[in-house]
Amino acid sequence: MRYSEYGRTGKQVSVLGFGGMHFDTSRPRAENADLVRYACSLGVNYFDTAPGYCGDESEPIFGEAFRDMPGPFYVSTKGMPTSFDTAGKARDAVRRSLDRLGIPKIDFYHVWCLREMDHYDLAVKPGGQYEGLLQCKEEGLIEHIVCSSHQTGPEVAHILSKDEFEGVLLGVNILNFPYRWDGLVAARDRGIGVVAMNPLAGGAIPQHESEFSFLAREGESATEAALRFNMGCPLITVTLNGFTTREHVDLACRVADSAEPMSEEEVERLRGELGENLDTICTGCGYCKGCPQDIPVANYMQVYNEHVMFGVAGEGMTDKIRSNYSWGVLVGRAADADACTACGQCEDACTQHLPIIKRLAEMAEWEAPLK
Ligand code: SF4
Ligand code: SF4
Repeated sequence: MRYSEYGRTGKQVSVLGFGGMHFDTSRPRAENADLVRYACSLGVNYFDTAPGYCGDESEPIFGEAFRDMPGPFYVSTKGMPTSFDTAGKARDAVRRSLDRLGIPKIDFYHVWCLREMDHYDLAVKPGGQYEGLLQCKEEGLIEHIVCSSHQTGPEVAHILSKDEFEGVLLGVNILNFPYRWDGLVAARDRGIGVVAMNPLAGGAIPQHESEFSFLAREGESATEAALRFNMGCPLITVTLNGFTTREHVDLACRVADSAEPMSEEEVERLRGELGENLDTICTGCGYCKGCPQDIPVANYMQVYNEHVMFGVAGEGMTDKIRSNYSWGVLVGRAADADACTACGQCEDACTQHLPIIKRLAEMAEWEAPLK
């Protein structure tokens, strides 16, 4: 495993981090905890979780793993300013996470999911979350206050210019990097650590190995190329990868061990080949859930990715929807795309700022022949 310093924190963190968003919760908690310890045994020392991940099981799984896991290792968790909008609520959230994780101190605590500047303003308002986190830091409950953002590069750069955060978690990968690059460069210039999430574009790359083969070198899969891109990028400190099996851990560790940085020529080639459309794919993050009409928005947007990435349209999309009814992400849906009332709730929550209402209208047209 290779290690590098996280910003100016003095902490040497593994270039591969364990993202706690993809545990298979149909398995016993002990089995998932064992997977965490397995990754640790291979040199992974950065573990990222959050309340609510995996049906709220993620923090307790890590808690079980940490009970008898040899250190040193570093723990990251999170709290949203929209949920914890006072200093008192923020402190309670930190204490709850500490309790579930069974550790005395959280190494990296994220002001979580900044999607627009209003969220940042809410976090740093007097008496707000950031103030509560500073108090936790003074009490020794948190070591470093960091943030996670789904904003554009210039907005991220603006937030980092305030020098309130020692690190930032960004969704950056081989497909969307041209649109995140400003944020990465701003972090590097200020000596701020960067953790990259979503290196495989919400699973789109492994699911479309042949279509994305242009990303890879000879003898390499597109998935390996995507991991190599992130773990070899000098602007990224840690790349989070979510695991459900030891084989997933082995593959990512193998790439981490050997990831040579992409050359400038390779990066320029990729920039040229990636169409602007690829920044507009749904990553499957799920933040749009809770549609009042019960439409499974994220699932419809995942199917719409086929249109964005591969230009499937018309009868081709009707076929895609039909097959997803039978065995894919639209099995057992409570409502179809045409139930959308355009209330805008999902668009406000979307981390990718996708035009969901317009896309659902297109999906409804393609879906109509199946009624
Ligand atoms: S805009 Fe449509 S899909 Fe989105 S939450 Fe409202 S009704 Fe649901
Ligand atoms: S539509 Fe937006 S919020 Fe919903 S899963 Fe996709 S990227 Fe995430």
